[in-house]
Amino acid sequence: MTAAGYPSISAGTKLCAVIGNPVLHSLSPAMHNAAFQAAGLDYVYLAFTVSDLPGCLAGLKACEGFQGLSVTIPHKVAIMPCLDCIDEEARQVGCVNTVVKEKGQLRGAVTDGVGALRAIENSGVDLKGKTILFAGTGGAARAVAFALSASGLPREIIILGRTAEKVDLLAGDLAQFGTTKVNGGLLQEELITRARTSDLLINATPLGMYGVDENKNSFPGVSLEKGQTVFDMVYRPEKTPFVQEALRSGCTIVPGLDMLLYQAVVQFELWTGCQAPESVMRDALKRALDN
Ligand code: NAP
Repeated sequence: MTAAGYPSISAGTKLCAVIGNPVLHSLSPAMHNAAFQAAGLDYVYLAFTVSDLPGCLAGLKACEGFQGLSVTIPHKVAIMPCLDCIDEEARQVGCVNTVVKEKGQLRGAVTDGVGALRAIENSGVDLKGKTILFAGTGGAARAVAFALSASGLPREIIILGRTAEKVDLLAGDLAQFGTTKVNGGLLQEELITRARTSDLLINATPLGMYGVDENKNSFPGVSLEKGQTVFDMVYRPEKTPFVQEALRSGCTIVPGLDMLLYQAVVQFELWTGCQAPESVMRDALKRALDN
């Protein structure tokens, strides 16, 4: 980086980027550019608003210096047929949040599951024998629920969503692991009763998110207790209405920001082959959030 905070660009600078629509709110450029600089790597990370996904990928693939992508809404599923190969985990989950260019080929991966597991572990939560409740059935819920099932640690995973078909699909996919008891139901009917008997409550909906549903508690009417853990994947604001309620009740918190950080750490290592400077990335994220 130059003194002005911009990366110094050379003819050999490698390009990584986040693609989505919208992406202008993304914290990833601040985090990854700080990491490249700290690691002394000649890389730059940009944000591209993309509507023509196949055109974008064909163009990037043809560029020698292109190294990889973060993929966000609405392209996480649509990108799959455009890639040369897809990791088994991403194939099972059914979406890709990371692209790595390797030997001229585009490889798809998903890093949300491993990021979430590290965030949970980091909060000191022991998953063994626990009952875990998800609100939401989208890409993030799928990635994390698959990673939890694959760990074989929880006793039961409960999937609640507002669309019955999506609940059945995810619960059915998870049951294939045969490692953990799986149940599903409708959010509007079962949230309060299921939450009472769950150890870890995970919000995987956008409720509580800045600029969208900021004032909405994603677990309305739920009485939280001290022994429970709350994990809100929404990280902006850090203290969503759900997290505020959890703090008042003395619950353990798994920060959504930790998931964002740890999934990005995996991305950085896939693109560069170098160890990610985690504390630099965390500080950059915090600064970007405060701005
Ligand atoms: P997604 O694929 O669009 O899924 C969103 C889910 O939320 C769907 O199950 C959807 O239900 C449900 N939903 C949407 N609005 C709702 C409402 N008003 N009431 C109840 N349910 C509602 O999104 P995603 O990628 O899974 O992301 C979900 C959240 O996690 C987002 O806020 C995202 O920012 C966050 N996230 C955080 C991280 C992190 O690193 N911390 C990573 C990924 C995602 P239907 O499908 O039935 O409409």
